[in-house]
Amino acid sequence: MEGNRGSLERIDVLRKITELTKSMIVELSNRSSKMISIDRFKSYCTNSLENCCCRFNLSEGKETLTLQRESHVRRLDVLLRVLLIIQQLLRENRHSSKRDIYYMHPSVFTDQSVVDRAINDICILLQCSRHNLNVVSVGNGLVMGWLRFSEAGRRFDCIKKPNSAHFIPVQVEEVTDIASPADYILVVEKESGEGYSDKSWFHGSRKLNFKFHFDQLKYLVSYFERPVFQRLANDRFCSRNRCIVITGRGYPDVPTRRFLRILVDVLALPAFCLVDCDPYGFDILTTYRFGSMQMAYDAKYLRIPQLQWLGAFAADSEKYNLPEQCLIPLTLQDKRRTEALLQRCYLRREVPQWRLELDSMLQRGVKFEIEALSVHNISFLSEEYLPSKIKNELTTGKF
Ligand SMILES: [Zn+2]
Repeated sequence: MEGNRGSLERIDVLRKITELTKSMIVELSNRSSKMISIDRFKSYCTNSLENCCCRFNLSEGKETLTLQRESHVRRLDVLLRVLLIIQQLLRENRHSSKRDIYYMHPSVFTDQSVVDRAINDICILLQCSRHNLNVVSVGNGLVMGWLRFSEAGRRFDCIKKPNSAHFIPVQVEEVTDIASPADYILVVEKESGEGYSDKSWFHGSRKLNFKFHFDQLKYLVSYFERPVFQRLANDRFCSRNRCIVITGRGYPDVPTRRFLRILVDVLALPAFCLVDCDPYGFDILTTYRFGSMQMAYDAKYLRIPQLQWLGAFAADSEKYNLPEQCLIPLTLQDKRRTEALLQRCYLRREVPQWRLELDSMLQRGVKFEIEALSVHNISFLSEEYLPSKIKNELTTGKF
């Protein structure tokens, strides 16, 4: 596995916090207005390849927070308050979510994104990852299939019921004893809430319950989404195919991406991704493979360079004879978004064939959801489309 993130002890992080606050006090006593410099990272640029110098581990410059700018003073206020909370968490060896931290000073923080930004800045300043700060998220992601693992001493055996969904563990860094006889990992964009009323379908057990009601609400909202993960569960896809299926339910969160990364590293299995044929689906695909801009400083632990794009491709609409009414014209916003995606340097550098597929969608001017493929036959996805695509990938390794 790349790096050794577990080796950074609480005591080391606490020492780094003390050093950081000391250096700020020194700046203040020297009457310097420059308080701290934060390295800036990005996961891509839109320069030509000759002019691109994006590197996953290197910063792209520094941002200095000074006391001369009001917006910087506000950010420093938030940063110090969050730092104080984190220091307390680490001293008491307790864990907390970003949401919990927000609710400690909602009037000062004003918005969740303000806290998220401060946490990212602190990770960069202390050169650590979010879990090193004892800040955890209750992941949104789900997993099913041929997989066993332990999380913080608790055993998870997905193989007993390979078509039942399990929540992706909260403490991903404490996942050990990963074992799987699977042939591949399949990542799907969406999961439906259709299983919500069917409690037997759901075998999630969650260590932390602070976000419970929020999650319940999200389930109700996701009830209106159309299924893919659920479709595969209903079709007993994992009984018929020796695989692990994961969904981040839309844009994947950190635990989902980190969990997938650990599985790919430990099991050395091919990983395939199935997303809608639209710019959002493609952006989700790139988030898995290359990391997000927001978490660029941690991309080396989160990105999955081996991830292969399985579909849906623009040409699938003809190949599988999708009726007109399943094809939705790209909006102006879709087109602009696609054009912006096409500019990203990592596509030119690492997966030029992905650009061709994306360009093909733009040329056709239409998008469609994965579920549209099931228009002629409800089990088409799990019985024909996926097995044939995966077989093709495993034998030819097209991408
Ligand atoms: Zn670049």
